[in-house]
Amino acid sequence: MVMYSVTKKRWDAITHHDGQYDGQFIYGVRGDMQVCKPSCQRHQHLARGDIKIFKNPDEALLDGYTPCPDCFPFGKLSPRDQLVYEVKSYIAKHYDQRLTLEQLSEHFHVSPGVLHRSSLLVTGQTPQNYLLEVRMTRAQEMLREGKLSVAMIALKVGIPNVSYFNTVFKQQVGMTAAQYRKKFN
Ligand SMILES: [Zn+2]
Repeated sequence: MVMYSVTKKRWDAITHHDGQYDGQFIYGVRGDMQVCKPSCQRHQHLARGDIKIFKNPDEALLDGYTPCPDCFPFGKLSPRDQLVYEVKSYIAKHYDQRLTLEQLSEHFHVSPGVLHRSSLLVTGQTPQNYLLEVRMTRAQEMLREGKLSVAMIALKVGIPNVSYFNTVFKQQVGMTAAQYRKKFN
């Protein structure tokens, strides 16, 4: 994932709750895992190290952050949008576990059909597709780091069957995990 640094300009914007920077970036607060606009007043005593900068909602969701209920960093959300964003954030935090549509819908107290349709409507993607995307993103990061075996990476992204992992990886990324690793190391 792209990392944006907490520059002095951004840090000043956050500590001064400067609305001029709204729309340019959003920031996540590690303590409560919520993401805010620069102008948000919710957090008053932040440390620079507690902050993570994102350029768009997708990056924040992929990192497991949820939108702040005070400043609406993704705009005003309907209950359906809110549900889908919370599900995405949940998936990003639990991608290493077995996660089915049934488990997700139970956790969020909606029917599998509602969850499936809501996700498609709001993001154009089913929860299962998003789960796969998160798993492949994390797998590619670990392959680029070059420390773990492919089998270990498969396990860490919640796909313990390594041959199934290899099949999915090739489908999604267009090359095998071993080829991907070679390309970056
Ligand atoms: Zn906020």
